[in-house]
Amino acid sequence: MSKIEINELVRSRRKTIALIVHTDGRLVVRAPLRASQKLIDEFVASKSDWIEKTRQSQQARRETIPQHHFAEGELFWYLGKQYPLKIVKSQHMALQFQPGFSLALKAVPHGKAWFEGWYRAQARIYISQRVGFFAQRYNLRYQKIRISSARTRWGSCSACGTLSFTWRLIMAPPEIIDYVILHELAHTVQHNHSPQFWALVESMLPDYAVKRKWLKQNSQLFHWE
Ligand SMILES: [Zn+2]
Repeated sequence: MSKIEINELVRSRRKTIALIVHTDGRLVVRAPLRASQKLIDEFVASKSDWIEKTRQSQQARRETIPQHHFAEGELFWYLGKQYPLKIVKSQHMALQFQPGFSLALKAVPHGKAWFEGWYRAQARIYISQRVGFFAQRYNLRYQKIRISSARTRWGSCSACGTLSFTWRLIMAPPEIIDYVILHELAHTVQHNHSPQFWALVESMLPDYAVKRKWLKQNSQLFHWE
């Protein structure tokens, strides 16, 4: 068996050795100040199966994260579907959707900004409309809607009733967006994740647990750096 390389060794006043496998696969070892190299190497060797497994699952996860280069044929999510990108010589707007995306050749170097702007604009229109619909249907009050750039939170609800949603949500399927909206609207009544909160979510969306699980398992699809 080949020896596992330690990418970074951090010594501190801790009592035990800890291993951290970063998302890029780097192995960081945290060790007590006096731990010998031999002890550390033996510890790492004893955990080689775990390190290998962790690296493999992170690799698999990384491979599902789309890398965007704004090239012809590349796929982009919108409302749970993937649409190919076309690069065109020139068009009225730098980025258009008809459906299927087309990006003007001169806008390619700024593709990321054009897409983000487009997603953000769509998110504002679509989410505002859905929030309004559900608020009326379930007689829930909110102050206003904010479209954020949050990377890890799909939505949030402030104590004063501002509902925030990340623009990234517009890439997800409509039924998933509805779950996030109803989740945040339920927080206007229950500012916590108590059983009463989940009961309220369930009363509006009986299969919410399926949507919640789906979002947890698939959120990397809508990852966008
Ligand atoms: Zn919540």
